Amino acid sequence: MRRAAAPSAVACGRYRIVAMIVWLETGADPQRVQQELADLGLWAIRLDGADGALGFSVQPWSRKVPLEWLEGIEGVASVAAPTSTHRLVDASTLPLEVAGAEFGGELPVLMAGPCSVESAEQIDRVAGHLAASGVHFLRGGAFKPRTSPYAFQGHGEPALSWLRKAADTHGLKVVTEAMSEASVPAVAETADLIQVGSRNMHNSALLQAIAHTGKPVLLKRGMAATVEEWLQAGEYLLFHGASGVVFCERGIRSFDASTRNLLDLGAVALLRHVHRLPVVVDPSHALGRRDLVAPLARAALAAGAVGLIVEIHPSPGQALSDGPQALSLDDFDRLAAEVKAFAPGMPRVTPAASETPRRASPHR
Ligand code: PEP
Ligand code: MN
Repeated sequence: MRRAAAPSAVACGRYRIVAMIVWLETGADPQRVQQELADLGLWAIRLDGADGALGFSVQPWSRKVPLEWLEGIEGVASVAAPTSTHRLVDASTLPLEVAGAEFGGELPVLMAGPCSVESAEQIDRVAGHLAASGVHFLRGGAFKPRTSPYAFQGHGEPALSWLRKAADTHGLKVVTEAMSEASVPAVAETADLIQVGSRNMHNSALLQAIAHTGKPVLLKRGMAATVEEWLQAGEYLLFHGASGVVFCERGIRSFDASTRNLLDLGAVALLRHVHRLPVVVDPSHALGRRDLVAPLARAALAAGAVGLIVEIHPSPGQALSDGPQALSLDDFDRLAAEVKAFAPGMPRVTPAASETPRRASPHR
């Protein structure tokens, strides 16, 4: 029996989540179909239609698989799928290659450097140090998004040229933040990967301006953004021409002030293992204290992060911004050595209702 069906909307707390529906042919064995769905990593809830029709509602937190896989299961009559709000993001594949680095490849991608580019000497010293420790991207802010107008705001354009020169001298690539539309051309000329800061994730005019450069983007999650909003900000960037998006979890606001932010490792696992997206973690801004950067970095990689972005400083006590969370160069070396031994392995999802999915893991 073939039957057309609209996607169902499942009420789930305050949210409405759209689920995919799989309808069965008359006489099909529902247990076997449900087992096949589970084997593919899908969370399926049985639907008993009033007219005797049988189907399954596939929950949105299931593994993402091609529709043809579902249509190919014996006994399946039709599959009704909702239109995603972020189709370009959904179509992204792993690994993502950016300036010679593979996000989602064999090894985690390391990005490190000071919060702010403070002088040509400072950034050159840091870059020289990092070149020997397997780091791919030199980070450093020229334009600093600060909560207080009295805090150091960055050296602006001169800092961009110090950053580029230091990176080129030591064979590194550059990731740095564009804070305003006005700064985009200069940042795009300097950066191999343009950072969108947490405070700007919702700034659609800035997202557009950055995307129009065609550069890849490191998209930090807004500190109060839902995962869906984060993904849609990624969609914004891809829609307007960014050549790729690396998602960066850097901690969200919580009720608890004991740490600077709350690192949402659940979102990291979700992006990596369910959405199959390149997601990295910033353990520095997540906690705001250097003594907890290494344990958090390990946890991030275990959860599925494909890279880390870490703040370091030659004299953390003298840093012009974010000193309390900056690692010393030696402490960073210890972390980098540990990370090099960490192979993230293949993405995997094991829903409660199934064995480990038996089919090869797809890149959508
Ligand atoms: C930064 O990377 O220095 C920064 C300001 O980050 P965030 O946008 O995560 O606060
Ligand atoms: Mn910082």
